[in-house]
Amino acid sequence: MPPPRHRILVVEDDPELREVFEVVLTSAGYDVSLVEDGRAAIDLLEHLHPDLIITDLLTPRMHGYELIRRLRAMPQGARVPVLVISGQAYEKDQRKALDLGAQRFLAKPVRQADLLHEVEQALTAVVVRFWGVRGSIAAPGPETQRYGGNTPCVTIEHGRDLLILDAGTGVRKLGICLQAEAHGRPQNITMLITHTHWDHIQGFPFFVPAYVPGNRLDVYGPPSVEKPLEKVLRGQMDSAYFPVALGDMAADLHIHEIRDPDFQAGPFKVQAMLVNHPGITMGYRVEIAGKVITYATDTEPYRYLITDREAPDAELAAYGRRRDQELVDFAKGADLYIADSQYSPAEYVRKRGWGHTCYHDAVDVAIAANARRVALFSHDPMHDDDMVDAKLADCRARAAAADARVEVIAAIEGQAITLRQPTATSSS
Ligand SMILES: [Zn+2]
Repeated sequence: MPPPRHRILVVEDDPELREVFEVVLTSAGYDVSLVEDGRAAIDLLEHLHPDLIITDLLTPRMHGYELIRRLRAMPQGARVPVLVISGQAYEKDQRKALDLGAQRFLAKPVRQADLLHEVEQALTAVVVRFWGVRGSIAAPGPETQRYGGNTPCVTIEHGRDLLILDAGTGVRKLGICLQAEAHGRPQNITMLITHTHWDHIQGFPFFVPAYVPGNRLDVYGPPSVEKPLEKVLRGQMDSAYFPVALGDMAADLHIHEIRDPDFQAGPFKVQAMLVNHPGITMGYRVEIAGKVITYATDTEPYRYLITDREAPDAELAAYGRRRDQELVDFAKGADLYIADSQYSPAEYVRKRGWGHTCYHDAVDVAIAANARRVALFSHDPMHDDDMVDAKLADCRARAAAADARVEVIAAIEGQAITLRQPTATSSS
């Protein structure tokens, strides 16, 4: 059976342009639906399940920004890629559309070949999406509104394939979206857990697809010292803490302790590595469609812990540096390195040994690894939005001073990073 055709929803108020979109996209083999403004698009979304939305910005009744904002808040719309095509192409508009979650901004007029190329890219690109970016404990509130308060959860998406990293409180919304998108069809879902500290599993009991009969859920995590992974997940759903038991989850649940560091999760090639954090904690390096994403949250450089600063031991220090090099190798050449960056340099001095990284070290690893992009992640719950802005500026200055190619960003809840496929005419 051929794969289902992709459906594209076009939001455009100019009737002539609508016709052009229809002819071009239909003849390229896509199913096309056309509406003239954002409100009509929202109304359609309940019944139509588009794989891509193309929108103008200045449309009657609802501006394109508002459409993107609403889509991102809707379970059926949160993950749908959006291409903005607008005559209003000031840099400010472009930045705003991308910050709101558009995948790409194209200035009118767009050549037919470019349109089809961008559509193809949007449907085949690897997308990394942040559902929770906060370390230690959820910290919602006006002071963390821009970067977000939910604890770690990230998805790596390629077409209709999806891999979940961690089940912090951010996984709750992801679960709602996945269930809404499924429209009653059974789902196969794979989740990698780095470790079982609360902030990485606390959303798990609220992950709706785990309660749906017919769904299959595979959870991978580190092997245990004292308790098996299954027992830890069961423990947080003990009746003293939660009204529903793990055994009441109706999905077909498979919990795997990782014994072999190299394994395949569906189409995703995964490599696991032990990182430096209290208990047993793993980082993951994931390859899909030629893209590499390294996820190493909750880790601390070994070299600062291993030797007494007052009486340094050269041999131990060399050992620490060797261990730290392992993380650099793990992030080597990554298209995106998602890095623990919890502490400022001043905080790290006070919190040495707590298992987290000072953000300068996060950037240094990214530079040494020659990563293409680093996402500062695991924002401290005490850091408000302005402090994360300052962290980002500081880290960008550090990368610039090192003349490094790495692009530094600070992970934002709800943000989607598109890792575009290289082609003859463009590269990511
Ligand atoms: Zn932890």
